[in-house]
Amino acid sequence: MKFRFIFFFSFLIAEKADLVIQNAYVWTVDLSKPKAEAVAVHNNKIIFVGSNKAVQKYIDSNTTIIDAGGKLVLPGFNDNHVHFESTCRIVTGLNLLDVHQEKPFISRVRDVHERFMPGVWITGGLWSAYQAWESSSISEEGRKAKIDFFKPQRKMVDSFTAERPVFIQRFDRKVFFANSKALEIAGITKDRADPPNIHVERDKRGNPTGILTGSGVQKYFNNIIPPRSWKQRVWESEAVLKRCARFGVTSLSDMSDARQREIFYYLNNEDKLTVRIHSRGYLDQWEKMSELGIKIGSGDSMIRLGTVKAWIDGIMGNSTARFYKAYSHNSDEFGIWRKIMFPWRSQSGGRDLQSNLEYLAIKADSAGIQLSVHAIGDAANSYLLDMMDRLNEHNGVKNRRFRLVHAQVIRPDDFKRFNNMSIIAEVQPYHCTDDMRWMEERIGHERSKGAYAFRSLWDSGAVVCFGSDSPGTNASRYPLNPMLGLYAAITRQTLDGKPADGWFPDEKLSVEEAIQAYTLNSAYASFEENIKGSITEGKLADLVILSDNLLEIDPSKIKDVEVKTTIFNGKIIYQQ
Ligand SMILES: [Zn+2]
Repeated sequence: MKFRFIFFFSFLIAEKADLVIQNAYVWTVDLSKPKAEAVAVHNNKIIFVGSNKAVQKYIDSNTTIIDAGGKLVLPGFNDNHVHFESTCRIVTGLNLLDVHQEKPFISRVRDVHERFMPGVWITGGLWSAYQAWESSSISEEGRKAKIDFFKPQRKMVDSFTAERPVFIQRFDRKVFFANSKALEIAGITKDRADPPNIHVERDKRGNPTGILTGSGVQKYFNNIIPPRSWKQRVWESEAVLKRCARFGVTSLSDMSDARQREIFYYLNNEDKLTVRIHSRGYLDQWEKMSELGIKIGSGDSMIRLGTVKAWIDGIMGNSTARFYKAYSHNSDEFGIWRKIMFPWRSQSGGRDLQSNLEYLAIKADSAGIQLSVHAIGDAANSYLLDMMDRLNEHNGVKNRRFRLVHAQVIRPDDFKRFNNMSIIAEVQPYHCTDDMRWMEERIGHERSKGAYAFRSLWDSGAVVCFGSDSPGTNASRYPLNPMLGLYAAITRQTLDGKPADGWFPDEKLSVEEAIQAYTLNSAYASFEENIKGSITEGKLADLVILSDNLLEIDPSKIKDVEVKTTIFNGKIIYQQ
């Protein structure tokens, strides 16, 4: 009787909202109600999705109201593949690729010095890279002429880095630079002989200038430079979280180490974690995870566990991705299998041979852990599809949502095998924009038809989800910004709009599909589609308001769209 009374009243008195977005173009990514004008949020949940008129009853004097002015509101973006720790290093660290003169050199080092914690080593740099690339593209003569590369000197930075060790390198890692503090810590002085395999450049008086060469330099300093402190890494993580907020990324799947996971737990306890994390362990450590009781669904909505990762082949960039037929530009090269494939073990009384990877995968899968495996070349992807068949046979058909990581080049015959296999294609569409410039030269026209074939994957029944693979390298960045991924999937063009119709244009996705891939499908990939990924009553309130309506603008403009507001867990965490 009492219960019925409470239920009765909860229908009459609408719960009041802490936050209301109204006058918006809400694209919900929820098929049952794709469009709305307003959203109401209470605590960290969405409590209403509907019309401007109907949302009024959720508003009281304590409600924050955002008038979206007709702008597009989407679920927060969910990046399916981020190397968070490397992103920290690249985003906060020293980048000198485009530097080959004293003034910009000093100002770049000073910038990093000013933002780093006291005492932390400044490393990396890679100065003069652009200088080298430019002169090598001028002419054969230019290439032969010895480039007069920039040479930093101690005195350029010593004045402001007296207590800060700096150890950096030229782009080709053949010339190194250390400031006075770094030389002091390394014991390289006027009076001491050069350490083995290191040549110390000296002035007339025998003082080191800061320039070091020789095969022993990197190793010598590797033994001296301490790992980045906890404090430094927390600070770096917060810098990247800020960047996520600016780009509307409210969830991401992280590929980093256990230390990074500890940092996320720490930030979460401090109430400073502004992205939901899906954190993966390693396949060869599945047993340890299992002993801790970790399986699909473990963790909570802030830090989700239950997935392992592995790699079976290399990458396109250095022709190590594994193919059935040799690379088109190198007839001896088929790519590689990673170590985890070996040794091959004999099963069922020696009748079957099984890769070590498969042996581990079967065990982890039967322990209820989700598998994710990196595969780039067609042979690598085929191998995993074969393995899926055998997994189904061995452990039974189940909703395992195997994450095929990158799914980059698929053999035409293999697309139909995705059907009903519960496979997630964990792709990063910006790779396409970047790689299309040389893909056909490497693997030829025919095989390129199955490269970054998002439409074929989607139509084959794979669940296609999107992410960035941030950070890439300093020379080839994969930015966190989801607009670049959406642009790539929708236009299949380079950032300067080539080719005019897009690269293999049949493989384009629609704007609606691309948005779904970057939100709901990424949530599905971590078994979280019931709590996030669409703007649906009862789901977590992770929302973005964009500067322009992706569904209406010319696709060429998608890459320039910005995030106006990011709402995470019911709170505004970014406003432009
Ligand atoms: Zn990656």
